[in-house]
Amino acid sequence: MTEVRAAVYAQADGPLAIEQLELADPGPGELRVRIEASGLCHSDLHVMEGEWRERPPMVLGHEGCGVVEEVGPDVYEFAPGDRVVLCWYAPCGVCDRCRSNRPWVCTRTRSGESLMPDGTTRLRRPDGEAVRSYLAVGSFGDHAVVPMSGAVRVPPELPAEVGALIGCGVATGVGAVLNTAGVQSGESVVVMGAALAGASPIVAVDLSDHKLELARDLGATHAIRGGDGAQAELDQILPGGPDHAFEAIGLAKTIEWAISMLSLGGTATLVGLTPSGVTFSTDALGFAEAGRSILGCAYGSCVPDRDFPRLAALALEGTLPVGRLIEERIALEDVNRAFDQMRAGDGARRVLIH
Ligand SMILES: [Zn+2]
Ligand SMILES: [Zn+2]
Repeated sequence: MTEVRAAVYAQADGPLAIEQLELADPGPGELRVRIEASGLCHSDLHVMEGEWRERPPMVLGHEGCGVVEEVGPDVYEFAPGDRVVLCWYAPCGVCDRCRSNRPWVCTRTRSGESLMPDGTTRLRRPDGEAVRSYLAVGSFGDHAVVPMSGAVRVPPELPAEVGALIGCGVATGVGAVLNTAGVQSGESVVVMGAALAGASPIVAVDLSDHKLELARDLGATHAIRGGDGAQAELDQILPGGPDHAFEAIGLAKTIEWAISMLSLGGTATLVGLTPSGVTFSTDALGFAEAGRSILGCAYGSCVPDRDFPRLAALALEGTLPVGRLIEERIALEDVNRAFDQMRAGDGARRVLIH
């Protein structure tokens, strides 16, 4: 048993509670990981706001990177000391989706219920109450027991804070461009994260001047402030509309805009997650006649064992400057303040360092 300090989603609509919990030893096929860093992702906030109807108590955090401390019985693939990036669905490896190289839609994982593959939890309160780990990660705790299939070994020199972001935000954003949409060299793109594919032009749209500046720094060729004048500005840069548009905020209004702005034959990729129950509409005839496509992007259509080490290598060689996305490093005690800032629309990336 290991003592864990963690930020717990203890009640709907309340702040996260810093609690001391008990973590069981890793069982067969499991690892205990000392979590070094965890990103704060908008999905954690969706849970806190009650928008996805998750049940407390639960340790939040699903963008985690750490070091393996102990392996369970019959685990030969990992050893203590390995640096791992955690994956927020532990693929079962044997369902038809996993076998056809689409583990992001695994039909048998229990991660979506924030449970281990056997349907139980490894965390308890001192009074014995079971506590779930969000998406079977729970990286707002300083230790976690995770299914082996939810961990990917990365080079030991990869900074933990970079590894944490690779575990969700970067895998999703870069994967949306390279895997889901398959952007080709020379295609025009609206949003960021597309420089790796050789896309051009790349037009970033955001409400925050600070984020637009960052997008330019990271390879966007144009930056447009969202709002009333945005479509006119976009028309000047791309009169026929973009080949690809990526919606990364999860608002019906911007989803509809991303679809309506497309060129003939263009593709809109929906990356941002909305609260449950949100719908959008689009002009059906214009959509069909123009041969447009809408793609849903789950986890950047990533195969973690294949993609996380590649992203780590790109980050280490500087091609993918992940570290520059990090605005602030925070301590566990600061997590509620950091989520207040996220609620207020301050979308800068913050990373919790345990
Ligand atoms: Zn996330
Ligand atoms: Zn599966």
